[in-house]
Amino acid sequence: MPIIRVALNIPIDTLFDYQADDATENDIGSRACVPFGNKRVTGVIIAVTTDTQIATEKLKAVYCIDREINPLPPALLQLFKFCSQYYHYPEGMVILNSLPTKLRNNKPVKLKQSINNYQYDLTEIGKQLDLSSIPARQRIARQLLANFHQIAPLTSAQIKQISPRAQKLVLQWLQLGWISATPIATSVSVDTALQKTIKTPILTIEQEAAVNTITTHLKQFNTWLLQGITGSGKTEVYLNVIAAALACNKQALILVPEISLTPQLESIFRTRFPAIPMVSLHSRLNDTERLASWLQAHRGEARIILGTRLAVFTPLPDLGLIIVDEEHDSSFKQQDGLRYSARDLAIFRARQMNIPVILGSATPSLESYHNALSGRYRSVRLQSRAIKKAALPTVQCIDVRRHKTPEGLSEPLIKAIQQCLSEKHQSLVFINRRGYAPVLLCKSCGWTAICQRCSSRLVVHLRAKKLCCHHCGYEGQFPRACLHCGNQDIAPFGQGTQRVEESLARYLPTARILRIDRDSTRHKNAWQEILHAVHEQQVDILVGTQLLAKGHDFPNLSVVAILNADNSLYSTDFRATERLFAQLIQVSGRAGRANVSGHVLIQTEFPDHPLYRALQAHDYDGWAQNLLAERKIAAFPPYVYQALLCAEAHNRQLALDFLTRAAKLATPPETVTLFDPVPAQMPRLKGLERAHLLVQSASRKQLQAFLSHWYVQINALQSHKVRWILDVDPLEF
Ligand code: ADP
Ligand code: ZN
Ligand code: ZN
Repeated sequence: MPIIRVALNIPIDTLFDYQADDATENDIGSRACVPFGNKRVTGVIIAVTTDTQIATEKLKAVYCIDREINPLPPALLQLFKFCSQYYHYPEGMVILNSLPTKLRNNKPVKLKQSINNYQYDLTEIGKQLDLSSIPARQRIARQLLANFHQIAPLTSAQIKQISPRAQKLVLQWLQLGWISATPIATSVSVDTALQKTIKTPILTIEQEAAVNTITTHLKQFNTWLLQGITGSGKTEVYLNVIAAALACNKQALILVPEISLTPQLESIFRTRFPAIPMVSLHSRLNDTERLASWLQAHRGEARIILGTRLAVFTPLPDLGLIIVDEEHDSSFKQQDGLRYSARDLAIFRARQMNIPVILGSATPSLESYHNALSGRYRSVRLQSRAIKKAALPTVQCIDVRRHKTPEGLSEPLIKAIQQCLSEKHQSLVFINRRGYAPVLLCKSCGWTAICQRCSSRLVVHLRAKKLCCHHCGYEGQFPRACLHCGNQDIAPFGQGTQRVEESLARYLPTARILRIDRDSTRHKNAWQEILHAVHEQQVDILVGTQLLAKGHDFPNLSVVAILNADNSLYSTDFRATERLFAQLIQVSGRAGRANVSGHVLIQTEFPDHPLYRALQAHDYDGWAQNLLAERKIAAFPPYVYQALLCAEAHNRQLALDFLTRAAKLATPPETVTLFDPVPAQMPRLKGLERAHLLVQSASRKQLQAFLSHWYVQINALQSHKVRWILDVDPLEF
């Protein structure tokens, strides 16, 4: 009698056996609906066997096995298993959380009609239609029809480019009989589709060398560290290597750190490969869209898959290439639940499939840089900008001990922006947000407004006249007076994006200023609109935080002003300066990318700090080697491997006690060090007290062996009222 072993979305690290009369080996990787307690739940079949530890009379029967959707491939199941073991997280939760929401429950999935992989042409009725028959306010409908008149047939990709909403119209027009659809046969046409490739720029010598090196090793595993200065044209290298992979009938997976980067890359890819089916997978998709994209990837219909970290778990039958763009970015690491690093899993996946993975960055993480130095990764470099006239920007420090900054902005800085404005170039004001945001301060006693649920300071949102907690989302009114001394002279202190925007507007009343932060980029097409406005020269000055530092291409940008960078120089976080440097290189790299020259101005109290010196010299290597030397002496990563046992409770003592009890259980070998439990850097979050205990070792293997054993022991520990998790290779403390 066949028995299926099923992984369920349950916080217990076990698989569950069920009787399934008709199950075969082919069902491994399929979803199964099974009884659990008095509920019906959905799981994924990991094995089909005939023996079980469960007594026959206790063995329940499966309700059904879903054979509509192809089973998850064995290699992907192996990836889940590795992930579960390495991050010490229940396998069932790893698997189920990687699936689109609609596949996690046992409601039957209605596979919604999708317009993908078809091309569309006007029918005879459609051809009779005249633009004037569509009311002027139906802008998209008119645009779509105009496009049909001019360049039909249209592919789904072209239609989506007109507007995401055009897809709906296509479905309607099909029903009305205005247009007809013919499938694009994907397998036959990769070659012809590739020939449709839009004209490509002539590669620079460096780009060509990079592409050649990587493509001659297309059929084997290598981790390539593509280290290219900002503007060196890494994207062009990606595009050429992707074309080579597509030509071998392979799928390419491209991981990007921020959803805000997807529209720009997506449009570059769609323009370059207009006939290659492509999907993007990120958190802004709704459940239906995500399922549809995921299925296209899983069925092998989509050949290019662009996504944020979760996309690393997408089933891809013909995977032949993985690219991790901006590999140093910390958003590849998930900070709650399963704390995986999508970059590291991408490398695992590439090794498993024996395919190349490219890690691209201007400022690689020290971990990756170290691996390239030691020869574990292969280094490929682009040392000059791709556009000949585009020189790297000049970097200058403005010493704020000598220059007054009445509104947070010094005179030389305002002058530079003014000059830039008069030359009709754009400027960008970057505010380093780490540890810095406008808070409400009492001038007489020094009291600041603090979130009751977290230990963090509340941030002033001037426009909404609200105090907000950026950690837990709490919102409250401005108090009328200081809660501590009653003084009424309380005022916002420090600069957030809004205050800088307001000061700038006072100094430069004619400038068109656009503020970019989490709030202004929340809605779905916000980024597209912002980028459009910037490219159409509708904006003179951009004001924003790290969101702006990511890889956007703003050709007319000349001046970059950096405020408050000093905050990160003397942080307690040992990665703070690594991050600051990367961020400043990124944001500086936005300037002078095409025909305008770039100037970076940094307001600082420490103009001689080695970090700013390295930045002025554009010397990533020197700086990185410096940091590595420091890390080696201090025994920090990448010279040691770390894990954190994190605990949260309503009461700090409970959390600390739990960690102490866990530490007592541990019997680490000499090569593994356990530190004392301490409160986290953010000791209160969302009303919970947080503490952790650091474990480290110079040997990853021994650390892992220790953790596996310890994890079982901690699981057996009475942990009433305490939530705990292991964070392997932690980035935040
Ligand atoms: P990076 O990601 O390395 O910072 P990008 O890929 O954004 O750089 O390229 C920078 C600019 O150089 C872009 O405007 C791109 O179109 C242009 N570019 C890249 N390669 C070439 C090339 N071979 N010839 C001309 N322009 C190029
Ligand atoms: Zn809070
Ligand atoms: Zn006070």
